[in-house]
Amino acid sequence: MLSARDLTKSFSTSEGPLQVLRGISVDVTSGESVALTGESGSGKSTLLHLLGCLDAPDSGTITLKGTALQDLDEAGRAMVRRSRVSVIFQQLNLIPSLTVAQNLDFQARLAGVLDRDWQHELADRLGLTPLLARYPEQLSGGQQQRVAIGRSLAIRPELVLADEPTGNLDEATADTVLDLLIEGTARSGSALLMVTHSPRLAARLDRTLHLQDGLVQ
Ligand code: ADP
Ligand code: MG
Repeated sequence: MLSARDLTKSFSTSEGPLQVLRGISVDVTSGESVALTGESGSGKSTLLHLLGCLDAPDSGTITLKGTALQDLDEAGRAMVRRSRVSVIFQQLNLIPSLTVAQNLDFQARLAGVLDRDWQHELADRLGLTPLLARYPEQLSGGQQQRVAIGRSLAIRPELVLADEPTGNLDEATADTVLDLLIEGTARSGSALLMVTHSPRLAARLDRTLHLQDGLVQ
C-alpha cells in the first residue's frame, strides 16, 4: 500500500547543508502497524512529512496505492492530505473556534466521508462523548490529543502517520489511544506508522523501523 524508495532530504542551515535522510526505503502493507524509532533529530518527523505529502523529498519515490506522490501537483497533494493520509502531529492544530463535535466533523466533511455511527463510536471509545460541546481551550492536553486522534480516524484514511501521539498521556490513556489507532486503522483496511519513544508501545505494533544516521537500520 505504501512504498517509499531511496528517499533523501537535506535542509540548509547556518552551518551549511544538513543531510537528514540519506536513502530511506519503507514498505507498509494494508492492516500493518509499524513503529518508527530513533534519537531526537534522527529525521523521524521529516520522514513523516514526506510520506504525508507535507514536504517533498530531494530524491526518491513514494507510492501510495498506485499513486506516485512525488509526481502530483499541489492540488493533487492537497487531495491526498485531505482524504487519504492522516497525520497526527505533536502540535495538534485543533480549530479553536469549533467545538469538539465540529472538529470531528470538519475533517470528515472535507474528505467527503460522513459516517455518523463510526464517529459516535470513536467519540465513545475515546471518552469524548461528554466533551462534544466544549471548545479545545476548555480541554486538557490529553483530551485535546484524543480529539486529534478521533478527527484523523474519522476520515477512514488509507494511512495514518502519527508523530508521538501518546507523548503526553499517562500509560493507561496511551494504551487506550494505541488500541484505537491499531483497531481504527485495521478496520479501515489502512496502515499505521507511529513515532514513539516508548519501547513498551513499540512492542505492541507489528514491527519497528529504527532511524539512525539518515538510514533505516
Ligand atoms: P526527529 O523527529 O527524529 O526528532 P526531525 O525530523 O524533526 O527529527 O529533524 C531532523 C533534523 O533536521 C534535525 O537536526 C532538525 O534540526 C533538522 N530539521 C528539521 N526540519 C528542518 C527545517 N525545516 N530546516 C532546517 N533543519 C531542519
Ligand atoms: Mg520529531
